[in-house]
Amino acid sequence: PSAIAATRRERRRRDAALGKASERYYLSPPLIVRGWGQYLIDAEARPLLDLVNNVTAIGHSHPRLERAASAQMRLLNTNSRFLYGAYADYAEALVARANRAWPGEFDVAVPVNSGSEAVDLALRMAQVFSGRRGVIVPREAYHGWTFASDAVSTSAFDNPSAAENRPDWVHLVDAPNAYRGPFRGEDAGEQYLAQVREQLDSLAAEGRPAGAFICESVLGNAGGVIPPEGYLAGVYEAVRAQGGVAIADEVQVGLGRLGAAYWGAAMQDARPDIICVAKAAGNAFPIGAVITRREILDALADEGMFFSSAAGTPLSSVVGRTVLDVIEDERLQARAARVGARFSARMSELAQRHEWIGAVHGIGLYQGVELVRDRETLEPATEEVALLCERMLPHGMIVQPASERQNVLKFKPPMVIDEADVDAFADALDVELARLTAER
Ligand code: PMP
Repeated sequence: PSAIAATRRERRRRDAALGKASERYYLSPPLIVRGWGQYLIDAEARPLLDLVNNVTAIGHSHPRLERAASAQMRLLNTNSRFLYGAYADYAEALVARANRAWPGEFDVAVPVNSGSEAVDLALRMAQVFSGRRGVIVPREAYHGWTFASDAVSTSAFDNPSAAENRPDWVHLVDAPNAYRGPFRGEDAGEQYLAQVREQLDSLAAEGRPAGAFICESVLGNAGGVIPPEGYLAGVYEAVRAQGGVAIADEVQVGLGRLGAAYWGAAMQDARPDIICVAKAAGNAFPIGAVITRREILDALADEGMFFSSAAGTPLSSVVGRTVLDVIEDERLQARAARVGARFSARMSELAQRHEWIGAVHGIGLYQGVELVRDRETLEPATEEVALLCERMLPHGMIVQPASERQNVLKFKPPMVIDEADVDAFADALDVELARLTAER
């Protein structure tokens, strides 16, 4: 009873303190008091399997991260204006990871405090370097809340006022979604690419050629959809051929989660000019970064310096560096491939028995199970997904909806998750899908 009372009290306090800004999942959200590995533990001492936390990539309460951060806190933490070694250590580590995928292409990494800031800075760099304002963006995207990252957040769900408030430098193309977008066949990649080429050409013909293209390398907000074959590489080349730059938003999908590659763009043989990272980079500590070539950063520096007081502090840099090291030392990318393959196998097996499953998007530890009421019309099973998420909670599973239609169960767990967890999730989902069918 005291745990229930505490949960109610914290809900009231949060609503009172944050008002409408207090985004909340669940009719009755659990009060979380502890995190450990892939589990969150609530006030009633219930362990909940965390299937959605792509921020805490190396797992909750990682002891090595705690030790590194505490040691740095005792020693030095300060405004990033001062000279200390950790800053360059972290920047070099990020550049090295980009160059492993694209040898010799990247020179510099600028730390910031979030994904929104990384996207904002990337857009500024792209506009200054190219000397053009126009940015081409697929629909259904979320890139952040700051002025510029909000402007390129084309999602009607996340950003309902976007259509009215969109600045004239933002130009839309369709989300390259071969499952439910306008092009779904074998040539989908070529067809979506042709749309971008048309957009590039018409902007050039109007005398305002595009300065940049930005998208998530795997479309997180569309439910984890991998763009069709050839799209990303083709778009990047087309944009560069017209003097623009390609920005990869790897905030959700970068740093090994896909298993098949460290970067989503590299998985698709596409080389960006600017990479944005955040989320997993800090394991829930506020860290983001922009990785790019020296000439692009120099163009920005010529125009007016960029500086952010708490970005790349000794503490942030040590946290960021430790996260990168843990991903490698614990071989979390290989684990993402292995455990992700188990997830794919279990979901395709469920899809054979449950008509609800229209598609399983994504790869590795970045997947989305798209639920539909009808496999022909693709009518989204939005209410059913909301109900499923509620009903998975008593199974001890935290899973939440994604996508414009909120009909995709997202699977982006801490990368320390294992096969037994995936099996437990699949077994619980099996039960709940059958229950939905029985209620139909
Ligand atoms: N880009 C993408 C793809 C994201 O998913 C998010 C956050 N949901 C952001 C940028 C913004 O990151 P942050 O919340 O750290 O500002």
